Formats: sequence, structure tokens, C-alpha cells
Amino acid sequence: MSNTEMKLVVVGAGGRMGQTLIRIIRETDGAVLHAAIERPGSPFIGRDAGELAGLGPIGVEITDDPLAAFLHAEGVIDFTAPAASVNFAGLAAQARIVHVVGTTGCSTADEEKLEAAARHARIVKSGNMSLGVNLLGVLVEQAARALDPSDWDIEVLEMHHKHKVDAPSGTALLLGEAAARGRGIDLATHSVRVRDGHTGPREAGSIGFATLRGGSVVGEHTVILAGEGELVTLSHSAGDRSIFARGAVKAALWARDKKPGFYSMLDVLGLNS
Ligand code: NAP
Repeated sequence: MSNTEMKLVVVGAGGRMGQTLIRIIRETDGAVLHAAIERPGSPFIGRDAGELAGLGPIGVEITDDPLAAFLHAEGVIDFTAPAASVNFAGLAAQARIVHVVGTTGCSTADEEKLEAAARHARIVKSGNMSLGVNLLGVLVEQAARALDPSDWDIEVLEMHHKHKVDAPSGTALLLGEAAARGRGIDLATHSVRVRDGHTGPREAGSIGFATLRGGSVVGEHTVILAGEGELVTLSHSAGDRSIFARGAVKAALWARDKKPGFYSMLDVLGLNS
């Protein structure tokens, strides 16, 4: 492990997570903000990243040139949009650096491109970078393994702020995947992502999702295990976005001396059994 501070680039620097990341990098020992990137044409280009994030000027100007920024950096932290993250992964692979991807809503084709980039980049991707949600995922997997699917139904309920553009949330899918792993089934072929109209009775063994949107909610997730005459609920409540930013910076520092590959927060947190 190097003794010098790890030079990090924040892409999507003007976004909700981007600004939180700039503040968290500032307060993290061993990490320093090397560059801040926004899309071409963004009104934030040319602004001081620290000033935008409410820290006061820090001498890092927001630019629209990721390639130049990645060349002299050691890692990039990316909470943007699927197409942008795929593009940044290609650039991170060229520069042979760490790429932490928090972006959600990626398609299977996007995931395949990210995995291809992980031949040269060290990619850490998770639908939720917080310690609490990853721990919750481990508990959900255990519970799903213990409970008979013909007696217990699993439903995942989530609520987020009104600006969120993808559904179900990356975290809801992460928790659904954990439940599917516990049951030894494939989530894609067992999930019910929306219900509307005359749906008929619930199919045994399926994993259901319900999505709420409104206000400024950072992220509420509940996994309900419903049996005959009893309910078990496992929940996580995100107080503010700094939990995701702290997890993402921790992931970058963790991946600094790892081999190229595709990692998850379970690897970073040592929760992978
Ligand atoms: P946001 O406020 O909309 O921020 C996204 C930022 O990325 C915006 O400033 C956007 O610019 C920018 N961007 C988009 N394409 C870009 C490009 N090609 N180059 C540079 N910048 C680009 O959204 P958010 O709430 O921060 O969330 C961002 C993503 O992180 C979402 O997918 C969200 O679900 C996810 N998220 C994940 C976690 C986790 O723990 N994994 C936690 C929270 C959020 P424009 O506004 O100009 O498009």
C-alpha cells in the first residue's frame, strides 16, 4: 500500500452524490480530490468543485475532459447514469485505474461492458455502497435460506425522493438478489416488479417489488418475509447521502492495491462468505 494520498476523480461532480463525494473526500485521510468532471455543456464547467459542494474554494476546477483527468489519477468515483458509467469504465481501463461505480439502472448489456472493462480496470460496483445495506443483504440471504418458499413470501418495498429516475432502486434489486441467492434461484425469472389490474393470486416462490417515490427521501428499504399468521421485516433507513459517499471512498482505497477485476461492496467490507 502506498503512503501517498490516493488521487481521486469525481465524475458527475455537480450531482447530489457528486457534491457529497467532494465533501467526504476532503475529510478522508489518505484520499485527495484530483479532478472533478461534468458533462460537456454543463453550467458547472469552470466552477470550483469545493465552492459548489459548499466547502469554499479548493483549487479544483470542474472540467468536461475525463481522459486528461484519468491519466494522472489513481481512481474515479462515479454516481452518474448508465451510458456515462460505461464510457467512464472504458477510459478507466485505458488508464489502468480504480473505477468505483455507484450508478444504478444499468441494463444487462451495460453490465457486460463494465465487466469487459474490468479486465484492465479495478471496478467496484454496488447498487448501495453503505455498510448497513450490505449487512442487511447478508441477513436477508440467511433468512431466505432458512425459510421454506412454499410457506414464506418475500416482498421488497422501497421509497426514494421524487427526482430518482430508475425503479426498482439498485438497492431493492441488491436485496432481491440476496433473497434469491438464499433460495438458490435466479432473480430475473422469479421477480414480480410491478402489479396492476387482475393479477391473480401470488405465485409461490416469487419475489415481489413495490416502489414509492416522493419528497426528499434519501432511501428507505424493507424486506418483508410473510408467513401464515406472522411477518418478519428487515429494514434500512438512509439518514443522508454521506453513507454512500463514505462507502465509495472506502472502496476506492481498498481497490488501490488490488488486481484488475470486478468487485462488490461485499468484497470491500469482508462480508463475502
Ligand atoms: P444526480 O443528482 O442526477 O447526479 C448525476 C450527475 O451525473 C448529474 O450532475 C449529471 O449531469 C451527471 N452526469 C450524467 N451524465 C454525465 C456524463 N456523461 N459526464 C459527466 N457527468 C454526467 O443523481 P444522484 O442522486 O447523485 O444519483 C446518481 C446515480 O447514483 C443514480 O444512478 C443513483 O441511483 C445512484 N446512487 C447510488 C447509490 C449507491 O450507493 N450505489 C446511492 C445514491 C445514488 P446532468 O444533470 O447534466 O445530467
